[in-house]
Amino acid sequence: MVDSDRCMNCEEVKTFKHLMWECNHVRITWINLNSVLVERGLEKECVRDYSNIYDYGVSAATSTIKLKIIQALIQIDRRTKLGVGEILKIINDLINKEKYIAVKNNKQMIFKQKLKDFLK
Ligand SMILES: [Zn+2]
Repeated sequence: MVDSDRCMNCEEVKTFKHLMWECNHVRITWINLNSVLVERGLEKECVRDYSNIYDYGVSAATSTIKLKIIQALIQIDRRTKLGVGEILKIINDLINKEKYIAVKNNKQMIFKQKLKDFLK
């Protein structure tokens, strides 16, 4: 298959900014993340414009989750939209990985502090 310079979803020119923010399909991903964050009382961490994607928020966990979403968006070039369920899976994978590392290094308190908003 030829690698096109057009977005698979909307035929716009495929720039990094388009794939991360401008494409309406990608917007849905951020809207879904925001609903997950609002549910946990993390309105301040929501992604409301392009620069927010790269903001280091109050919560280190939220920054890591945003990075994981960016990674997923890059990987799923052909389906640039993540549902709430997929976002929750990313968060759960992160929790499991961090928990494993924390237990291994006997740093459970740091783990619990970092991910406190997402452990409920
Ligand atoms: Zn697009």
